[in-house]
Amino acid sequence: MKTDVIPLGTASAVPTDERHLSALAVERKGQVLLFDCGEGTQYRLREAGLSWARIEAIFVTHLHGDHCYGLPGLLSTMELQQRADPVTLVLPPGGPGMLRAVPGATPARLSFPVHVVEADAAGTLGTVYETDEIIVEARRLDHREAFTMGFRVAERTRPGRFDPERARALGVPEGPAFGRLQNGCPVTTPDGTTVRPGQVLGPPRPGVVAAYVTDTRPCAGGRALAEEADLLYHDATFADDHAARADETGHSTARQAATVAREAGATRLLLGHLSARYPDPAPLEREARSVFPAAEVAEELRRYELDPREKEPDPVGPADES
Ligand SMILES: [Zn+2]
Ligand SMILES: [Zn+2]
Repeated sequence: MKTDVIPLGTASAVPTDERHLSALAVERKGQVLLFDCGEGTQYRLREAGLSWARIEAIFVTHLHGDHCYGLPGLLSTMELQQRADPVTLVLPPGGPGMLRAVPGATPARLSFPVHVVEADAAGTLGTVYETDEIIVEARRLDHREAFTMGFRVAERTRPGRFDPERARALGVPEGPAFGRLQNGCPVTTPDGTTVRPGQVLGPPRPGVVAAYVTDTRPCAGGRALAEEADLLYHDATFADDHAARADETGHSTARQAATVAREAGATRLLLGHLSARYPDPAPLEREARSVFPAAEVAEELRRYELDPREKEPDPVGPADES
């Protein structure tokens, strides 16, 4: 099952003709996780062909307006659409208070169930959202005075691929016994032999990982989120000649983003949150590629496809019966 990462807004602070305010969608099995919700995000979701109804959780990095002012509007639209499904909101400290201050956006009074997860000011983070198939982890970033967190979406590792031919050859009758082996349980064949799952399953299949790391200076939290990520979206507000400005404003340069990607062993890097001073982002891309060749400027509304099958070890070889 593929996971698509779709940048919806890659501007820093103010929208431009080319770029919109911060938001990024992760779509998997038709469900959408939304990271940040700058003003106008509901339009960008429409343009990306992502229905508001399919959003199951929204994660906000921090309370700077360019990352969260779209949230009350999106919640209001969900209510007008008579949403019945629950939605989870993962918010920085003060996030629920911000929503309560907007008429009609108080989570507890919306007509659909809203599960709010508010990070505490001490920065106690970790797993902030999970389902049977994915885990979202949050870590503290380093961005000025505003409490800021980044996120890492990881698919859970799945059991290895089942080899029915091999099972038949070992005398396992087709039917419930196949299911038990696929679920990791040993079975006994009619002739009394025990067949263990390891004899008929390939190696465990790792899932894909995407990390969303903005707004931030290069920091340990961002590096941890990016660890061996298949795709890292990282703050690259400035080019390196504005490194002092980046540091002062709590952002990263394209080179710093690339360094984080390299140190973390990420596979691919998308440069995001670009300053309006770069209508042509080519210099940022060049700079990043000099450190980490698999870097590119995040293209809004493009689907970056992550396919776990590409990470799978070779199919099961001749079974080891010892
Ligand atoms: Zn920002
Ligand atoms: Zn910010």
